[in-house]
Amino acid sequence: MQGLIDTWVDVQSWILETAVHPLLFRFGYMTFFEDAPFVVETLMLGVVQIAVILLVFRPLERLAPAEHWPDRKLARVDVVYTLLSKLGLLPFIVFVVLYPVNDWLQESVRDYDLMLPTVEQVVPWLRDKPLLLFATYFLLYDLAGYLLHRMQHAVPWWWALHSLHHSQRQVTCWSDDRNHVLDDVLASFYFAVVALLIGVQPSQYVALLLVSRLVESFSHANVRFGFGRVLDKLVVDPWFHRTHHARASASKPHIHDSNFGAVLPVWDLLFGTAVYDYKRRPTGVDSRDADADNGKGWLGQQVAVLGRLGRAIIASFRPRRLAHPAE
Ligand SMILES: [Zn+2]
Ligand SMILES: [Zn+2]
Repeated sequence: MQGLIDTWVDVQSWILETAVHPLLFRFGYMTFFEDAPFVVETLMLGVVQIAVILLVFRPLERLAPAEHWPDRKLARVDVVYTLLSKLGLLPFIVFVVLYPVNDWLQESVRDYDLMLPTVEQVVPWLRDKPLLLFATYFLLYDLAGYLLHRMQHAVPWWWALHSLHHSQRQVTCWSDDRNHVLDDVLASFYFAVVALLIGVQPSQYVALLLVSRLVESFSHANVRFGFGRVLDKLVVDPWFHRTHHARASASKPHIHDSNFGAVLPVWDLLFGTAVYDYKRRPTGVDSRDADADNGKGWLGQQVAVLGRLGRAIIASFRPRRLAHPAE
């Protein structure tokens, strides 16, 4: 294990010294010097995640697929989403940009003899227990994810964006990152604000992103097995998340309004949105408009979703027709 960590640090230092530091110096961006190791680490972790998908999740999909398709034509676009997201730095850049804002906020409230309620402030006992502290951050981060996901389904304009994630008829281990750019920007701000408010540090944020994204990639895998009926109450597995992607039917019109959890199903169990019926259902949406995403490329989907978003916003301004009780 120590050998692996040493190699990791060596590779990171090599990239920093041979490429990043000279570039920062050359273009006068030395103010980013301190953030550079985290940026390099985020990129390296992106490469690791793609390697895990290719070397572990894809072989499992080949071995025991949940759904058989004549080809994987529709799934291919999700590879583009994954590469852009895993090798893009959006969540981390937003976190780094907001970090000084958070410092300023901390200092401002201190002037009034107040403290922001970070986890360490509320539970000082956790200060010298790094693993427990990280677990607490993870729990709160995952709860924030659950609440965000519920809003993505409940707020019409947000659903217009999030429906892109659901329109995929061939859900695979590449599908987790299939999101509209606007949705990604909103989510990045939301998660960065939550993480900063609870006291997460940059290196911990990188670890939070890694763990949650790996579990989320696997929960989208087209595999016909889960973690078993005990473990699947502790960690989201492909069965659980596949139900969330199930196409609505006349008998189950709201099937996708369940299993919102990203990593921990505990929130669905607590708030009554968990469905464990182990039924294999086709995935996708019951809207012709959103279903038309299938067959489009990355850019076509991004533009189509902007149209959906515009229509959803316009519809929200239209006066609703009130039903008269006498009618
Ligand atoms: Zn959803
Ligand atoms: Zn999903």
